[in-house]
Amino acid sequence: MRFTPEKLSIPDLRMQPFIDPDEIWDLINNTKPDKSQVRDVISKSLSKKRLTLKETAVLVNASDPDLIEEIKEGARELKKRVYGNRIVLFAPLYIGNKCTNNCQYCGFRISNKEAVRKTLTDEEIIKEVEALEDNGQKRLILVYGEHPEYSADYIAHTVRLVYGIKKGNGEIRRVNINAAPLDIEGFRKVGEAGIGTYQIFQETYHPEAYKWYHLGGKKKDYAWRLTALDRAQEAGIDDVGIGALFGLYDWRFEVLGLVRHANHLEACYNVGPHTISFPRIKDALQLKINPQYQTNDDEFARLIAILRLAVPYTGLILTAREAPDLRREVMQYGVSQIDGGTKLELGSYSESKNEEQNLNREQFRINDSRSLGEVIDELLTLDYIPSFCTSCYRMGRTGEHFMEFSVPGFIKRFCTPNAILTLSEYLCDYATEEIAEKGWKVVEKNLATLDTNVMQKTREKIERIKKGERDIYF
Ligand code: SAM
Ligand code: SF4
Repeated sequence: MRFTPEKLSIPDLRMQPFIDPDEIWDLINNTKPDKSQVRDVISKSLSKKRLTLKETAVLVNASDPDLIEEIKEGARELKKRVYGNRIVLFAPLYIGNKCTNNCQYCGFRISNKEAVRKTLTDEEIIKEVEALEDNGQKRLILVYGEHPEYSADYIAHTVRLVYGIKKGNGEIRRVNINAAPLDIEGFRKVGEAGIGTYQIFQETYHPEAYKWYHLGGKKKDYAWRLTALDRAQEAGIDDVGIGALFGLYDWRFEVLGLVRHANHLEACYNVGPHTISFPRIKDALQLKINPQYQTNDDEFARLIAILRLAVPYTGLILTAREAPDLRREVMQYGVSQIDGGTKLELGSYSESKNEEQNLNREQFRINDSRSLGEVIDELLTLDYIPSFCTSCYRMGRTGEHFMEFSVPGFIKRFCTPNAILTLSEYLCDYATEEIAEKGWKVVEKNLATLDTNVMQKTREKIERIKKGERDIYF
């Protein structure tokens, strides 16, 4: 006979809010680390162990410039060891901006009457996805406001639609989602459509601050949002992404909130979040925030390095909200995914004109409007391997199992070869002559780092790609 928690009268704590603001403030206020403590924490992390909340508090409280440099150096080194030199590329696709919530920082808020509201029709989604495929994109994140029109059934429908759109050699191999929290049944429906990651940002982990920013609609409910990814796990979605919107509240509190959330998922479901996002507030119509909490560039670089050290196996996502120079600088501290060729205006990927950003039609202002080609060009110059790999997820190496694979040797056997193969496809199908020339040099250089056997097999696959085969991976 199976004992359920109710039968044993043990409350199921998995679905309960797990943030204790006093505990977090206590850690921030009462951790005064000396040099050796900071160094101990960095070296624990370099042995690829996740940090506790207390250890993360040691890092957020390190203020000596030399120690901050050591934290950044540690993050750079850990990134190399865990992720190698790949950067995974994706693009966001806004499906609809109708919204019943009233978040004070967002241009889609219901009180913003100037916003031009739109939901893409299926025909428009097809046009947009074809345009994205024509640029070489293989991984998308679909974004939705919170509105009765964007039900679980509708989200699942759009996911299936996107997977079915093929143009030339183009196809979308991974569809991630950023949408409102669902109930368990809703998550199940969306999961069954074959999504990659379901991403939900808590925005701020501080309940009082949360209340101040979220004035209306379902999003007002802090606990419903905080426990959303527990419901996703319960519904069988083991690939989830968390995030905080920096600039709403004290950045140190949010870093500890993110780590607490990651540790909660790991403790309850044996699998931490797949990704962490750390968007910073950007200009939007009717933006209303407390300037006291603005996170400056130095703090931003620091918090990325700290997150890298705190959760060594969690992907870190940096978006086009940030300007190219800053992206270049902070990428080295542990970022594993970036977007390229991003446009936020609904329907704009399939419009050939490159218009100025128009805040009536966008959620917020982005600061990197380079094309995917330009982003790839820069990555190649900086010796990164731009990757469109979707192999792990399609081979079932996700969730708990994915953790097993995050072991020494895995990168060289799987990640680097797969990054090389997806880059080769891009170079054959979409690159300008100049980028192709640069790209093949990067391919050769990285092939040389592989073991002979793997190198040989990868070369054979590249030859098959050059002859026209696609979607070959390890
Ligand atoms: N409506 C859903 C929600 O709120 O979860 C979907 C996502 S919303 C379109 C995507 C994310 O954009 C939000 O979670 C928030 O973190 C971020 N965002 C909102 N306003 C922003 C702003 N002014 N600057 C930067 N990021 C912003
Ligand atoms: Fe709506 Fe999301 Fe914007 Fe809030 S952040 S107003 S929920 S789209």
